[in-house]
Amino acid sequence: MVSRLSSHSATMEVVKKYGFKFTKSLGQNFLIDDNIIDKILEGANVKKGDKVIEVGPGIGTLTRELCNVADKVMAIEIDKNLIPILEETLSGFDNIKIVNEDIIKADIKKLIDENLDGGPVKLIANLPYYITTPIIMRFLEENINVTDMVVMVQKEVAERMNANPGGKDFGALSVAVQYYCDTEIISKVPRHLFVPQPNVDSIVIALRVRPERKYKVNNEDLFFKIVKASFGQRRKTLLNSLSSMGILDKKDISQILFDAGIDEKRRGETLSLDEFSKLANCFNAFVKEEKYV
Ligand code: SAM
Repeated sequence: MVSRLSSHSATMEVVKKYGFKFTKSLGQNFLIDDNIIDKILEGANVKKGDKVIEVGPGIGTLTRELCNVADKVMAIEIDKNLIPILEETLSGFDNIKIVNEDIIKADIKKLIDENLDGGPVKLIANLPYYITTPIIMRFLEENINVTDMVVMVQKEVAERMNANPGGKDFGALSVAVQYYCDTEIISKVPRHLFVPQPNVDSIVIALRVRPERKYKVNNEDLFFKIVKASFGQRRKTLLNSLSSMGILDKKDISQILFDAGIDEKRRGETLSLDEFSKLANCFNAFVKEEKYV
């Protein structure tokens, strides 16, 4: 068995042997670069004792390297045609569990309980790009016992997750991710390092999930509604975008923005997470006092 699958020739050998046909709609672009695999392993600081979830193992290129280092690995792959390939490429390991499921529908907590002793886990993956955000948000919002997510995503998506307030990339995704995590760009990955070559470039980004909430938000539901409304129409002032939520009229919104110490003419994209938290808490206090909810 070759030691690594991360070359064009080793990957194509496996693909040909099984007559595997790539499915574009499943985001099947396989990584063929050793150096990037090493950067992913370093970025995730994979070591003995670690329990790892990989979403979309493909033919097992990254999976094998994870199995070499971590205690236990669970790889969740939707494409049943890849399962016999994975069974062969991972046959030398007794610390791997291959699960043939759709990550969007899977009961992730139950799978972690059954196969990774309940965690804590690291999510390490070259993600299928058509569902990057839903996957990441599932792990963050569903209280899954995850400490780090080191994932390859489309370059523009990584830039949005990592963006600072005020820039064109800063949006609802930046706030959602940074509400839970510290972010770190690990490596840029040009498109020619995949087979077949996709028509976008990629970035490996690390999302370090904070054990405690950094921002004190009294009503998370309302916080995320406010964030969504603030970025809904980027050219609107906060006064206009928040009144279009239909909960309160402009006079009340103006009062809340004043209470939060935020100029009502500012746009959502200029607010820091601290300011969004303050705004949501003032909004929450106002509606409670006024008995709107
Ligand atoms: N890990 C491999 C690599 O780095 O070469 C393959 C990564 S490829 C970008 C994405 C993988 O995710 C494919 O193997 C694809 O079949 C799988 N996939 C796509 N949608 C999925 C889903 N909903 N649930 C689980 N796996 C999925």
